[in-house]
Amino acid sequence: MDCIFCKIIAGEIPSSKVYEDEHVLAFKDINPQAPVHVLVIPKTHIESVDKLDATNADIAAKVLAAVPAVARQSGLTEGYRVITNVGKHGCQSVFHLHFHVLGGKQLPAEMS
Ligand code: AMP
Repeated sequence: MDCIFCKIIAGEIPSSKVYEDEHVLAFKDINPQAPVHVLVIPKTHIESVDKLDATNADIAAKVLAAVPAVARQSGLTEGYRVITNVGKHGCQSVFHLHFHVLGGKQLPAEMS
């Protein structure tokens, strides 16, 4: 499977790792949109939130449950934003489920 995040999990492509456990990997986004911009991903390949159902929701839960540890490790004591893009209209560019964790400054309230 030609998935860049699966290659990062396999160690075939380098990443700046922030957090790892049995099911989850978190690493710095290569093109940060905020002072802290970390991607939190499952080690199992799932395309996006749109492919979640009762058979794999536990994987997504493990990814989300890792977010507080990622935030703590990244010094996000004043809060942060968690975003996941889905498909074309959502501007998803990597088709392996991931949650962006953004922070380190006051983020704008509005959505474009
Ligand atoms: P999305 O557009 O929501 O699918 O997010 C994909 C994110 O992956 C973008 O913010 C990219 O900057 C990031 N990205 C792509 N390739 C890499 C990489 N090799 N290492 C770290 N982040 C990456």
